[in-house]
Amino acid sequence: MMNRRYTKPISIGGVAVGGGAPIAIQSMTKTDTRDAAATLEQIRRLKEAGCEIVRVAVPDMAAAKALPLIKRESPLPIIADIHFDHRLALAALEAGVDGLRLNPGNIRDKKKVREVVAAAKERQVPIRVGVNAGSVPQDLEPGQPLARRLVASALEHIRILEDMDFDLIKVSVKAFDVAATVEAYRLMAQERPYPLHLGITEAGTPRAGAVRSAVGLGLLLWEGIGDTIRVSLTGDPCDEVAVAYDILKSLDLRQRGPVLISCPTCGRIETDLISLAYAVEERISKLNKPIKVAVMGCVVNGPGEAREADVGLACGKGRGVLFRHGEMVRTVEEVDYLKALMEEVEKV
Ligand code: SF4
Repeated sequence: MMNRRYTKPISIGGVAVGGGAPIAIQSMTKTDTRDAAATLEQIRRLKEAGCEIVRVAVPDMAAAKALPLIKRESPLPIIADIHFDHRLALAALEAGVDGLRLNPGNIRDKKKVREVVAAAKERQVPIRVGVNAGSVPQDLEPGQPLARRLVASALEHIRILEDMDFDLIKVSVKAFDVAATVEAYRLMAQERPYPLHLGITEAGTPRAGAVRSAVGLGLLLWEGIGDTIRVSLTGDPCDEVAVAYDILKSLDLRQRGPVLISCPTCGRIETDLISLAYAVEERISKLNKPIKVAVMGCVVNGPGEAREADVGLACGKGRGVLFRHGEMVRTVEEVDYLKALMEEVEKV
């Protein structure tokens, strides 16, 4: 088990972030924020999927005007994503949002930044400095590797907040390039004690994006870096949450719902294990308990893996052996595999 980096704890609408708290899962709504009903509907779906903090884009005053209703009805803490316009930040704080994502250096007038920081401080609302590769100024440390430029840019924004005596800060330094992102977070972790929000930005469509995110975030998480995560996918935000849990579950950092262990099958197989695995996955996905179920194709690795799971089935020719918590329960005829497995799962 890795040692988690200790970061300065903050709270986002009651969700503890940093300071050793469980790594929180974030996503972002993809609706038009002005449409509060559609946005709330998506937030409710995200909550059901296990999302813990949600960010909404606030591109204009019409979107800001929808925030009081969204905030009032939302079952999740809300972070308002704001660029350039300090009036939107003030309106969002007025609406009671739980966090801001805002890069203070993008608001040129220091007086306006001070106003926002004072309002955030009064309400104890954290601000995430979120730097993306696409928004690093061209003239900032030209010629340096992207990771260094990302961190230099984040530090410029952070210093503005620190100079105003504001430290409820969270930081992200995201890029599409996995190696640059990993390096940027490592550097950032050495620079400041603030919690880090991890993500690989513009990661792509669900399969490619999930893999890129898993590689990048997995490396960092394994080094103990990261306090909140978001998997950015071009698709349904609930898929982002599912992949985020899969990443955390893979490293035993969080548990949620069941885990299916199934062998890839090979020339030794003597049953239709692929159909069985899909059928089991479909059934157990509806269970809200952290149970490990194994379906294995033969006697080579089957019994070993099946014993390690809470419930396991090692299939043979025409019949299989069912295990519960490492103990052999009984042998099962092939036609009864699914039924017998699910009966055992129910008992667990
Ligand atoms: S468990 Fe058996 S069938 Fe499945 S991949 Fe391994 S050797 Fe092949």
